[in-house]
Amino acid sequence: MEICVMKGILPSLVEGFFDLIYPSNIYCICCGNIIDDSRPYSLCDVCVRTMKWTNGRTCSCCGKRLQDDYLPDLCTNCRDGGHLFAKGFACAEYGAAERDILHRFKYKDKAYLGRKLAEIMRDRILSEALELDLILPVPMHRRKEKVRGYNQAAVLAKELARLMETPYSSNLLLRSSDTEAMNQLSALERSRNVQEAFAVSSRKKDLLRGKKVLLVDDIFTTGSTADACTDALLRADASEVFVFVFAAGANLISEEDDGIRC
Ligand SMILES: [Zn+2]
Ligand SMILES: [Zn+2]
Repeated sequence: MEICVMKGILPSLVEGFFDLIYPSNIYCICCGNIIDDSRPYSLCDVCVRTMKWTNGRTCSCCGKRLQDDYLPDLCTNCRDGGHLFAKGFACAEYGAAERDILHRFKYKDKAYLGRKLAEIMRDRILSEALELDLILPVPMHRRKEKVRGYNQAAVLAKELARLMETPYSSNLLLRSSDTEAMNQLSALERSRNVQEAFAVSSRKKDLLRGKKVLLVDDIFTTGSTADACTDALLRADASEVFVFVFAAGANLISEEDDGIRC
């Protein structure tokens, strides 16, 4: 009896705890300015206008935002070669505001920002009316996760799965080698190594058969990481893999970025 009561109380306690340590309805999650609690996603009006939302034309393959004067429906990357995943989606193009949000989320020990980012992602992906069986994060190597304290892709994917009431697994797709230690390699060498970096857990392989999977990450550039994950998932008989990121762009390299996400 006591356990049943506790089960009901715990989620609201956790919610309350998060609200105490992070009053997300008071500060903009991008610039940190004070806002009122009516602002959707805890973003101020300036940041909402500054962000490059993917609410116009996007690449029909990877989901990157296309410039108005660029007429083809595939971005230059996808015109040079397609992807293994069925289709990609993004909430925004990776620019200064998107970098600021993700930087605070990933490097400032603010995992709770993932809750707001997942709300944005939920509303974006619902507009696509996809039928999904499973939501998975792009896995992070154990050593790096230990240093950072959390895998930002897993925080987003788990919260998104909760909001969408869709099954989630953090240990089905595994990162089998430390691609994060390849910063000194050329882009081509990194791409080759990334291809072999992911594997599906042999104990859980059966869970993927015939499943439509949404693979979640925070950012997307060339798509090599997403393709490598997709390859592992399709080999384990997933029927279709969609890729979904918060921000996608051609060049994400900055002093804070890993320099390896592809
Ligand atoms: Zn702001
Ligand atoms: Zn594309």
